[in-house]
Amino acid sequence: MRMLSGARKALLLLAAWSLLAASSGEGREVGAAAARAAAAESGAHRLQGPSEETDAFSGVKPKKQSARAKSMSWVTLQKRYPGAFVVWGSRRYRKVALTFDDVPDPRYTPQVLDTLARYKVRATFFVVGQRAAANPALVRRMSREGHIIGNHSLNHPVFSRISLYAMQQQILRTDWILRPLAGYSPRFVRPPYGEITPAQVEWLRGGGYTVVNWDVDSEDWRSLDSNAILINIKRTLQPGSIILQHAGGGAGQDLSGTVAALPRLIKLLRSKGYTIVTLPELLGRPANRKGQ
Ligand SMILES: [Zn+2]
Repeated sequence: MRMLSGARKALLLLAAWSLLAASSGEGREVGAAAARAAAAESGAHRLQGPSEETDAFSGVKPKKQSARAKSMSWVTLQKRYPGAFVVWGSRRYRKVALTFDDVPDPRYTPQVLDTLARYKVRATFFVVGQRAAANPALVRRMSREGHIIGNHSLNHPVFSRISLYAMQQQILRTDWILRPLAGYSPRFVRPPYGEITPAQVEWLRGGGYTVVNWDVDSEDWRSLDSNAILINIKRTLQPGSIILQHAGGGAGQDLSGTVAALPRLIKLLRSKGYTIVTLPELLGRPANRKGQ
């Protein structure tokens, strides 16, 4: 009996792992399909503004209606939870922050890090826990090179569609993975697709986290070329802006446009008199949670 239950336990574990592997693989494929479908959409998506991230990493693109029903507009959340939910920094200074989501990805993250080092720019990376566990050296490199590490969930679900408890597990398990790599417990959390409920924001605030979305969407997840990415960024750029880009993606997602755009973006921002800063510098808050 003892042996049997042990074997059963092992089988169950094996099944759980293969399920996890299968679902993440499937997620990436669906993600690529969603990206293609979204790319085929008309310009209507662009006009929606920064209400939803559709970076196609998990493939679960939040539906506009249901997401809206559960969550508030970002501007409302920023007003209701000052300092705990952020879409942009102070408009009084010509400072902007570069943020890169869905890292680490061995295909693109090293290239982005190389460019940032060449131009002496420090950025903020929103790390997916499962990806960090698979490529810990890349997260260590980000930290070593002076970049800020943020929490972008364990496997990129739509927070507004999962329970508060499931969302807490996403954050805490990622925190557990990131702590030894970053050397601190990251304060900044970016919910996948920017989707989050007020109750989830409240729990994060209580835990000393700061939720950070963006007011400038490069839309680079659509595998755009560098010209299109720069046009998208210039559209809503202003002092205090938080710029969303990706340095990691799903299978079939091509971020070479992001890599090519980065040196041009840095030169453009500097020519317009902007200083490129990290989120702690833009928001006046440390990279780590209080006391962690
Ligand atoms: Zn993402």
